[in-house]
Amino acid sequence: MNTTPSTSSKTEPACYEVRRSTIHGNGVFATRDIEPGEQIAEYTGERISSDESAVRAEAGGGPVNHTFFFSLADGMVIDGGCGGNDSRFINHACEPNCEAQEDEGRVFIYALHPIMRDEELKYNYALIYEERHTPAVKKAFECRCGAPTCTGTMLAPKKRKRAKAG
Ligand SMILES: [Zn+2]
Repeated sequence: MNTTPSTSSKTEPACYEVRRSTIHGNGVFATRDIEPGEQIAEYTGERISSDESAVRAEAGGGPVNHTFFFSLADGMVIDGGCGGNDSRFINHACEPNCEAQEDEGRVFIYALHPIMRDEELKYNYALIYEERHTPAVKKAFECRCGAPTCTGTMLAPKKRKRAKAG
């Protein structure tokens, strides 16, 4: 696949580019040192319902296509695979150097730690997958980040309904 380093459409030059990753497929790498707390990118894409995201994942060949979906607090989903930018190539890791934060329905990627030039950017997807977490599903969402604390999955633990006061 031919991946050209991307330039942001914004005025500031992007501090990252897409390259081949040792974790999985394409990854996103810092092109300069990045300070903790720095806003790196907005996670963009088409805004769709979670029902529509399920339809699209099915059409795309299965649950693994969820990795381009970002679930929002209001139940909507950003489909980074449709109209999204290079931030959709940021890989999942169990010990990430970035984090995704939702702000008024928009999602931004921030640096958690000092990031060195040429370091791969990673955040914890904590993917929400409502269907049963069968062995096949777990395999599709397998994490290969290599961290000592790796949980082996990109999926967030399923929420259990508990009558527990906050
Ligand atoms: Zn991991």
